[in-house]
Amino acid sequence: MSNPLLSRWDTPFEIAPFNSISDDDFAPALKQALAAHSAQINAIANSSELPTFANVIEALETPCRELEQVLGVFFTVAGADSNPKREELQREFSPKLAAHFSAITANKALFARIKAVWDQRAELDLTDEQQRVLMLTHRGFVRGGAALEGDADVRMQEIKGRLATLGTQFTQNLLADERSWFMELSEEDLEGLPAFVVKTARAAGEEQGKDCPVVTLSRSLITPFLQFSPSRDLRKKAFNAWAARGANGGETDNRAIAAEILKLREERAQLLGYDNFAAYKLETEMAKTPEAVRGLLMEVWDAAKSRADQDAQVLTAMMQADGINGDLAPWDWRYYAEKRRKAEHDLDEAALKPYLQLDRMIEASFACASRLFGLEFAPLDVPLYHPDCRAWEVTRDGQHMAVFIGDYFARGSKRSGAWCSAMRQQAEFPEVQAPVVINVCNFAKGDPALLSWDDARTLFHEFGHALHQMLSNVTYESISGTSVARDFVELPSQLFEHWLEVPEVLQEFATHAETGEPMPQEMLEKVLGAANFDMGFQTVEYVASALVDLAFHDGPAPADPMARQAEVLEEIGMPRAIIMRHATPHFAHVFSSDGYSSGYYSYMWSEVMDADAFAAFEEAGGAFDAERAKALEEHILSTGGSVDPAELYTAFRGRLPGVEALLKGRGLVAE
Ligand SMILES: [Zn+2]
Repeated sequence: MSNPLLSRWDTPFEIAPFNSISDDDFAPALKQALAAHSAQINAIANSSELPTFANVIEALETPCRELEQVLGVFFTVAGADSNPKREELQREFSPKLAAHFSAITANKALFARIKAVWDQRAELDLTDEQQRVLMLTHRGFVRGGAALEGDADVRMQEIKGRLATLGTQFTQNLLADERSWFMELSEEDLEGLPAFVVKTARAAGEEQGKDCPVVTLSRSLITPFLQFSPSRDLRKKAFNAWAARGANGGETDNRAIAAEILKLREERAQLLGYDNFAAYKLETEMAKTPEAVRGLLMEVWDAAKSRADQDAQVLTAMMQADGINGDLAPWDWRYYAEKRRKAEHDLDEAALKPYLQLDRMIEASFACASRLFGLEFAPLDVPLYHPDCRAWEVTRDGQHMAVFIGDYFARGSKRSGAWCSAMRQQAEFPEVQAPVVINVCNFAKGDPALLSWDDARTLFHEFGHALHQMLSNVTYESISGTSVARDFVELPSQLFEHWLEVPEVLQEFATHAETGEPMPQEMLEKVLGAANFDMGFQTVEYVASALVDLAFHDGPAPADPMARQAEVLEEIGMPRAIIMRHATPHFAHVFSSDGYSSGYYSYMWSEVMDADAFAAFEEAGGAFDAERAKALEEHILSTGGSVDPAELYTAFRGRLPGVEALLKGRGLVAE
């Protein structure tokens, strides 16, 4: 019998036939699919015809149907509905896939043909999109080291291998430090802690084999402990352990590893012809240069620091009222901020939840997409990978646009968090293909299922990514939908969150599960106020980390990263009662892999843009202004990576993003 992962899917909208796929099909299908893809690549690389855009670049753009089908299905179920067999397959597949794709980048014959097309680009009469795809393909190979020869090539392979090893060690050391530390609590020490913290501390004690509750360095325990424990001594002890992760000396110390990683990254960038690693890394981003990143971060920094300084005075006064003299310390901040939050914005989550029914929030997200972009959603009855999944056909003016799948409920087989993925991306080459897009969340089941405010935001966020896929309108798959720069990809998702806060949307869809009444205005104001609470602190701890990350990579690699970190914090005037959100020895975003190295700024960059982009609606006719919606689709949601993101944003907004809307939104300046 033929493998159902490899055959052409004769199903509605060619959705994967999940009910006829078994776990035993994956390994043989992947083997065949990789062979098919390698054959495709080798045919391109070894062709005897003169290299042309069609026989090199378009040939590379032609999807390998087998491989896309296998990976699309496998990664969907491995993330959202795993089991031991699928986990084992994942461990088996990841090195195979890494080797497969790095062999393509290292294929000298293939690169020679890409370079030949690149060198003739001026004479080729290509469309803008074709020029962009050619540039991205060529640049991707060059950045991967394809143009290196001889010793440089050998050294590059050594560096890549060593960096992978160091990244893994960094992560493992951090985990070891987080797991080995705990602090025993007496029954007396539990006083003042809310029931959920007590429960977590008791469970952690049992897990450690103790007959008392303990505090560990798990974020879900240490953070609420620092927020709620009235014992200053215990807070200090726990805080210091938290802050020292990765810097405790001995075998798990990450400081020397960080220094070696920075040195190797610099060498890698220089082998490729860049001055330093930040220049290499930022070339592909919207920001493009370290100067642009630093400029934006510093504009935010000044406002955030002055807000944090004011907040520190309020908190110090509260501490002194408790009879403690002296300076507010880092182990005091969360505790007094929590007391202040309770006094100023006490939000009763239990009273809020009945207003946020999952089904009504899904309706709300669809209704916004309908008003803004004319999309319609009709339930679709197709077999999916789990009975909790739901599907809709998305149309506009009767035309099929996409299939949207929602998999909303938490279960043991699903990894944590929320995400949007595409089982198929939009493209028109070599034939028209409509996207199949999935949102996966981890909401609690219930009848009816009720969400927290954060959950509702997550739903809108992931749906924003889904819109970026569903409205995509490009020719080539490699630049379709969310295939954009890292510091641009969160714009559609974070922007869409703003529609959840639009009063008329909540008025219509945030209705009480039992009474059907809309959410009272007072509750709405509390929700929005609470979301912005303590933003001075949060912005300062984040921006300080982002500036240190940038300083590490923008210039010669520091021999002593800890000294460089101290220098940067001194320069920016870090408030004494706040520390970096991630200090160097446990800055996993930056040192576990290259993912967010000199890229930690990108969360803030996206937030600046989403605030600024939503302000464009407000400045025009309001949240549903038709012209703005049209411009948003035309310049951002439909264009994928076909145009440089700074150009796209400028086309939408008439200028590059400014920080004012973010500062107002975070309450860091007066409205
Ligand atoms: Zn996102």
